[in-house]
Amino acid sequence: MADNTSEPDSRLDASEELAAYESGRLLFAAPCEFFFGAQKLEQLPAPDRPEVAFAGRSNVGKSSLVNALTGRRGLARSSHQPGRTRQLNFFNLGQRLNLVDMPGYGYAEAAKSVKEDWQEMMFSYLRGRVTLRRVVLLLDTRIEFKPSDHEVMELLDRAAVTYQVVLTKIDAVKPHILERKNEATLALVSKHPAAFPEIQLTSSDTGQGIPELRAALASLALVSEAH
Ligand code: GDP
Repeated sequence: MADNTSEPDSRLDASEELAAYESGRLLFAAPCEFFFGAQKLEQLPAPDRPEVAFAGRSNVGKSSLVNALTGRRGLARSSHQPGRTRQLNFFNLGQRLNLVDMPGYGYAEAAKSVKEDWQEMMFSYLRGRVTLRRVVLLLDTRIEFKPSDHEVMELLDRAAVTYQVVLTKIDAVKPHILERKNEATLALVSKHPAAFPEIQLTSSDTGQGIPELRAALASLALVSEAH
């Protein structure tokens, strides 16, 4: 199977690749702090730094992934926990990049009005946020694509925000299942104009794919003043 987690960017040569990993490592070794929770779009913090937003169905492994990227347990909270979950949570990563934890979507029990509110707020955020560089869209390797995943991909296409699909929990499936899922996901993203044609395969439990994702996101951050 084509291992598309092995390189941060297939156009890089070996030394550039090492440099990309190193800048990812350095960026995510910087302090990362929660600094803002927005329940309304009027409340967003000033757009003064590049931003990457994380989206996915509830339970997809989003808080685990944000915690694995930053190496900080308990930074992002699981959607099972009350509190920060129905808002946009902003984290400041080393003054160089904002990480934005979007509310998990796809609650089976959510009333239609709740879903519509989510979509409206997310669409306005996605379309209007000038500093938003990329959305990281998480899909669970173990679970089939759901209608809400397709809806969110269409929303991202309409908002014209570049997004990167990340498969989570790859440790939880056998290699042939992962291969099939990877192929199905590649076929899915090829139908979406705003989606990157590459998939990141990750596991927050084993750390697979985490350095690659850090490297990809570091290319979007403000340049470090230390360099
Ligand atoms: P969220 O609701 O999207 O924030 O998801 P969580 O991060 O809370 O994870 C949901 C569930 O998936 C929890 O039971 C996690 O332990 C589990 N999980 C998260 N990441 C992984 C992973 O990489 N591998 C495995 N096997 N389980 C994971």
